Amino acid sequence: MAKPPTLTVNKTMQDILDAERKAAEEHRARLVAIVESSEDAIISKTLESIITSWNASAQRVFGYSAEEMIGQSITKLIPEELLDEEPQIIDRLKRGERVDHFETQRRTKDGRIIEVSLTISPIKDSQGTIIGASKIARDITEIKKLEQRKDDFIKMASHELKTPITSIKGYVQLLQNIYSEGNEDGMVKVSATTVKSSLNTISKQVDKLTRLVSELLDLSRIESGKLELYMTEFDLGTMIEEAVQDARHLTSKHALVVHNNFEGKIYGDRDRLSQVLLNLLANAIKYSPDSLEIDIIVTGDKKSVSVSVKDYGIGIDKKEHTRIFERFYRVEGKSEQTYPGFGIGLFIANEIVHRHDGTIRVESEKNKGSIFTFTLPINLKPNYR
Ligand code: ADP
Repeated sequence: MAKPPTLTVNKTMQDILDAERKAAEEHRARLVAIVESSEDAIISKTLESIITSWNASAQRVFGYSAEEMIGQSITKLIPEELLDEEPQIIDRLKRGERVDHFETQRRTKDGRIIEVSLTISPIKDSQGTIIGASKIARDITEIKKLEQRKDDFIKMASHELKTPITSIKGYVQLLQNIYSEGNEDGMVKVSATTVKSSLNTISKQVDKLTRLVSELLDLSRIESGKLELYMTEFDLGTMIEEAVQDARHLTSKHALVVHNNFEGKIYGDRDRLSQVLLNLLANAIKYSPDSLEIDIIVTGDKKSVSVSVKDYGIGIDKKEHTRIFERFYRVEGKSEQTYPGFGIGLFIANEIVHRHDGTIRVESEKNKGSIFTFTLPINLKPNYR
């Protein structure tokens, strides 16, 4: 006997309903997975600012767990002086508006103030009534710090580039005046010593500009992955002597003393490694204005060689030791402000040493001088990189 048609229809209906429920459940599970795995804090709240959901990243960013926050007011996260932001946000949401990339500050469970970018959208029910809001909070503290450092860097770079240019311009004008028309006998009025020292200063300032521009070029080469190494076998001792000799031109005060316990060749980019050493020496000179000696210590065995630059200057607090190798990072403090610099020398040095499979490190304490050491492997294969 054939089945009653109604039963067939009901079963089919049931199948459809089951399939729809399954699809809806899957869809929901997918959304939950996306929200939970998001790098951003995703929070929902009512129009009375009461939190209704709180994902894993919200806990990571703000420190509070979902249990601690669901049912609480969102104002718990807002620093006191910014509390009037919330009614303004709610007003906009009630009008159905979205708040996009609103940059502000929030307070974490442990009392830290963090920089956040908020995107807040109204949540509507099936009738289109606004019943709450979803909020995506991105922690942009690090990005903000980097932006600040970049701004400081641009200010510093403009200043650093302008100073030698102004000085060159001054000396060129002086020389122009000497030889200007109507002053043909200028040569007798100004001694050859003045001319010579003006030309020397111009030359030094041009060297300084060249160094600064090279640093900037290296930075952009590193950032675009285009810093090339030209690897050869070379005598380390000679390279060190030459770099130290160059560094002697940067100071009339310090004695640069080499203690070399290593003899032999290494395989690497001679110019780039010499640049690393020169950079460490220039820093040692710059950051030890009141001392008289800088030591260059070279030690090695069959496998590796270490070059240390030891100064007796202002030193570096322990907590800054890893950060000073970051791009644009400069130690902040009353005494440090007075030293000119871009904050990229150590970043470049670190990159060059790492490209040689070497390491670079610092030992230092505030006011107790610093020792910067780079260690390189010796037996690199000739076809290396
Ligand atoms: P800068 O151009 O600022 O000297 P670097 O990247 O070479 O940039 O160094 C980063 C920071 O590390 C410096 O701003 C300084 O605060 C600190 N530093 C580097 N070398 C020394 C040193 N020998 N003694 C004390 N501080 C140093």
